[in-house]
Amino acid sequence: MSILAPGWTSLLYLAAAVCFILALKGLSSPRSARRGNAIGAAGALLAVVTVFLSAQLENIPLILAAIAVGCALAVPVARRVQMTQMPQLVALFNGVGGGAAALVAVLELGHSEDPWVRLAVVFTLLVGAVSFAGSAVTVGKLQELISTRPLLFPGMREVMAAVLLGAVTAGVVVILAGSAGWALALLGLGLAAGLLLVLPVGGADVPIVISLLNAFTGLAVAASGVVLGNVLLLVAGTLVGASGTILTKVMASAMGRGVAGILFGAFRGGSTAGSTVLSGRPVRSSSPEDVAVQLGYAQRVVIVPGYGLAVAQGQHTVAELATSLAARGVEVVFAIHPVAGRMPGHMNVLLAEANVPYESLRELDEVNPEFANTDVALVVGANDVVNPAAKSSPGSPIYGMPILEVVQAQQVVFLKRSMRPGFAGIENELLHDPKTTLLFGDAKESLAKVLAAVKAL
Ligand code: NDP
Repeated sequence: MSILAPGWTSLLYLAAAVCFILALKGLSSPRSARRGNAIGAAGALLAVVTVFLSAQLENIPLILAAIAVGCALAVPVARRVQMTQMPQLVALFNGVGGGAAALVAVLELGHSEDPWVRLAVVFTLLVGAVSFAGSAVTVGKLQELISTRPLLFPGMREVMAAVLLGAVTAGVVVILAGSAGWALALLGLGLAAGLLLVLPVGGADVPIVISLLNAFTGLAVAASGVVLGNVLLLVAGTLVGASGTILTKVMASAMGRGVAGILFGAFRGGSTAGSTVLSGRPVRSSSPEDVAVQLGYAQRVVIVPGYGLAVAQGQHTVAELATSLAARGVEVVFAIHPVAGRMPGHMNVLLAEANVPYESLRELDEVNPEFANTDVALVVGANDVVNPAAKSSPGSPIYGMPILEVVQAQQVVFLKRSMRPGFAGIENELLHDPKTTLLFGDAKESLAKVLAAVKAL
């Protein structure tokens, strides 16, 4: 029996929905993101408590046990996860959300004969399953458990067409007959569609697909709100669906991509196919002292942070180096590529941790024209985001992605550990350019040595 009167339930749901909207508002700026996150979490807690107080729940011990298991698994993982592994965690949680919505839909099928509700069940099932399986693939790619490159097999296009046809057929049967067997078949076909959709996505497109799958989960959850007759699920799902769609659109245009091209480019044999052959040609390596001289006597230095800076946790050292150079009268700015690192805004978060002032950060469009009058571009653990193959090699997985034009600077210095490529798995011609020097080693250690040498100048 429910403790709360329906009026109170609606009011508490409304309060939770307001929390979610305020959370999104907070998350729109790094300054208020922490607060936004806390408000969102409070909204989610309020929603869960309201369900316990208002719904006619059965199997409460089982529900509590499931919550306990979920917390026992998620809390330690979330506490221990490295910043660089955050996208995998987000993709994992997102996929689990889609999968949960799909399972709820299967269970609810027997509870309604209304064809509109059954349509919502079919939508939730299919989209939730696609999101679950697709997210699992992105986790595998990001964790490098499977190749980050597009994975295709002969006849994949035909298999995909058969799966989609099967899904439409199963969906129609579920709507007309409410058959649980066909619903399970639809679940299987949805999982297959998720795998087939994301396996061929590679290189620079993975972040956009994560965001798209996030939008899918939102839509599946919104549809499950229709299935369960729960307004808050509808509102929360719509918010996630809408914000995920906007983020996908923004990221796709920042990368010069169309969303359809990302999902189906590999099927068409388009730009997501590429080559990993590394040439093994010689490069010019340098010492920390030489790099210190290049930087210390420059007028203008642009620092390009990338994934390797996050891996090395060199943000504080790079911030200190920038301060030291500025104290010598060198003009120093940081160039931020929209997909540098492994999650949207990764470099902003990383540099904010080291209190690098926002005024020193430059977006891609803003900084690119400035490279021509830059003495040194210092590329710290970045690779794909400065790789000219994005402009010059139509077969490359990153072809068409806007890059930071460090090649225009007078001199380019790369800090990296080896000649290994970046996420997209392709060679960077810029490493062999006559104006480029490489300082091999862990970014944090190299930065510390360069910093010491700058101070000694
Ligand atoms: P990349 O992955 O292209 O390159 C990272 C570089 O860092 C490598 O060359 C690596 O070379 C170097 N590196 C790694 N660890 C260290 C270390 N400890 N010290 C020094 N160097 C290190 O990174 P970018 O930031 O340039 O590009 C991001 C890529 O990730 C893009 O392809 C993007 O599409 C993709 N991506 C982005 C997401 C996002 O939302 N931002 C999400 C998912 C993927 P070495 O091993 O030799 O040291």
